[in-house]
Amino acid sequence: MESQICPKAEKCPVLNKEAFADVKTLEYYKKNYCFTDDHTWVKCKRFITAQTLQMCPSFVMPDSCFSIDEILDRMENGEV
Ligand code: SF4
Repeated sequence: MESQICPKAEKCPVLNKEAFADVKTLEYYKKNYCFTDDHTWVKCKRFITAQTLQMCPSFVMPDSCFSIDEILDRMENGEV
């Protein structure tokens, strides 16, 4: 089956912002979250955060372990 693409891929900085992640890490993200045949982007913390908060701060990576509350706390402390 052909890989499908995360609905947020067009604007996601992980895929569109240069140097957001090193090459090896970026390939891991693409293979395991962004381009898959079984919609694994629903497990991506950036996808989950954007769905929940209507935005996702740059410190959140696809495999980040932060809870949404922890992300909100960090944002309130000035991290974006
Ligand atoms: S899976 Fe995550 S990192 Fe990949 S494009 Fe979607 S939101 Fe961005």
